[in-house]
Amino acid sequence: MYIKPRPIPLNVLFCHALIPRLSPNHPKIPQLEREISSYMSGYRGEKATEFHLTFLDDKKHHIFGGLRLPHEQHYFQIDTPILTRKYILILETKNMGGELDFSPEQFSQNSFYGKKGYKNPIVQVNRHKEQLQNWLETHKLPVTIPLIPLVVLSNPSAIIKTDEPDVLQQVCKVENLKNKLTNLTNLYAKDVLTDRMVKKISMLLLEDDTPLFPDIEKTYGLSPQDIVPGALCPKCPSTKLIRRDRIWICPRCLTHSIDAHNDAILDYFLFNKTTLTNKELRDYLGIDCIKTASRILVSLNLPSTGQNKGRIYHRPLDFLEQLEARYKRIKS
Ligand SMILES: [Zn+2]
Repeated sequence: MYIKPRPIPLNVLFCHALIPRLSPNHPKIPQLEREISSYMSGYRGEKATEFHLTFLDDKKHHIFGGLRLPHEQHYFQIDTPILTRKYILILETKNMGGELDFSPEQFSQNSFYGKKGYKNPIVQVNRHKEQLQNWLETHKLPVTIPLIPLVVLSNPSAIIKTDEPDVLQQVCKVENLKNKLTNLTNLYAKDVLTDRMVKKISMLLLEDDTPLFPDIEKTYGLSPQDIVPGALCPKCPSTKLIRRDRIWICPRCLTHSIDAHNDAILDYFLFNKTTLTNKELRDYLGIDCIKTASRILVSLNLPSTGQNKGRIYHRPLDFLEQLEARYKRIKS
């Protein structure tokens, strides 16, 4: 069963919201569009892996749609961890096509576009194994549970090329995943954890999961001045709506909206900062009336601290879910 459903990659949600806030011919837009397609390709590969895991949809298997966990001063990311009483599987999906050469010295892809070297996914997944082992130790959890790293190739055109029998132990094509897991379950027949311990580890994994928010400056080299603030027209690129008699109106196409501020405030929390005051909201949306801003803030049910004029509103607790719901609404 899924303990955490797989979210749409945060970089996709971020870039998708960012592009309409840049001037229509901004030079960064092609890079952001490439970023979306590259992250979506990885996401589709991971969803393909999930499709081949549906037979595990029972209470014995705790499946996570991606986790990012702290390790020393940094974080490590596992595509699909699966926790059971017998072992923990660490699945790393690669959506690369063509001939994939897993020689001990280097990993390379030979495809229609030519030959190219990449980081070896086996090395990567084995490092995740060490990091997860370390994470279990840090949390004083049973380290006797076998950790099994496995690279899953989700692209039907992928061909595994290797002379090393060990490689075939650690790499499989997605259509063979079910067989592979059945073999593993036979191999690791003994229960190491109790159901109670499996639940405890699941809970701690969820608590420690820390999604990485991209940053307009550090991740994409943009400055805050590049971002158009306010409520935007969904039809006219980077055009701000004007508020008249409780309604948002586009000065170009006259599109009306009663709640365009909702999406604008989500973007504020995504691109500006995680807190918002009445004054900051008025500046951002270009409205003068304190009462209007208060009404909008109250209608959003945001968590808040402080009283009256000193009140500070915070990013909603289900912020990521709201971003994903908006993305799906706009794409549908
Ligand atoms: Zn418009």
